[in-house]
Amino acid sequence: MSRYTGPVCKICRREGTKLFLKGHRCYTDKCAIEHRNYAPGQHGQGRVRVSEYRLHLREKQKVRSSYGVSESQFKHYYEMAKRASGQTGETLMILLERRLDNIVYRMGFASSRNEARQLVTHGHFLVNGRKTDIPSFLVKAGDIVEVKEKSKKLATIENALEAGEARGHLEWIEVDKEARKGTVKALPERKDMPMAVEETLIVEYYSK
Ligand code: SF4
Repeated sequence: MSRYTGPVCKICRREGTKLFLKGHRCYTDKCAIEHRNYAPGQHGQGRVRVSEYRLHLREKQKVRSSYGVSESQFKHYYEMAKRASGQTGETLMILLERRLDNIVYRMGFASSRNEARQLVTHGHFLVNGRKTDIPSFLVKAGDIVEVKEKSKKLATIENALEAGEARGHLEWIEVDKEARKGTVKALPERKDMPMAVEETLIVEYYSK
């Protein structure tokens, strides 16, 4: 299944929670969830029977949409997490956090993961001094992510940094906004991730 390219607020409304897919708008009262917190479509306000399968599926979809990865990529991360030591659900979440597009977003160089993905694909970033234009590139602890010299004055990045304060600060990341450079001080632990997710439901979804 390919990546969804339709109106992203519909995804939040379907999941019934803010997934922060639209950048600055998500932090304003224009956010669709603030005034239309029900599923999109004709029957969006009707009662929905919540089966166990649906519960598992929705939790998986919530995380997948949030990180903007395709179904096959998500399954791939799940398989990687299953093979690794430690708890599968937690490892899955850490793998998703390590994606370069997510790190660019977390560092505040982009206002959403979608924007971060575009910036990375267009070659605006270096990882440890080397041009890296693959959004799924997995960063490690100690990696330095910086904006390429020619792109340092890019309005998209400047605007994102200005507005990024609203998202707060993450302990495992250090950012020098002036230098347009950030360091992954350590890989995050599950408790460091702000997203409210029951990852065990995702593991159960794939275990069936
Ligand atoms: Fe989701 Fe952002 Fe749209 Fe709100 S504005 S519904 S958080 S994508």
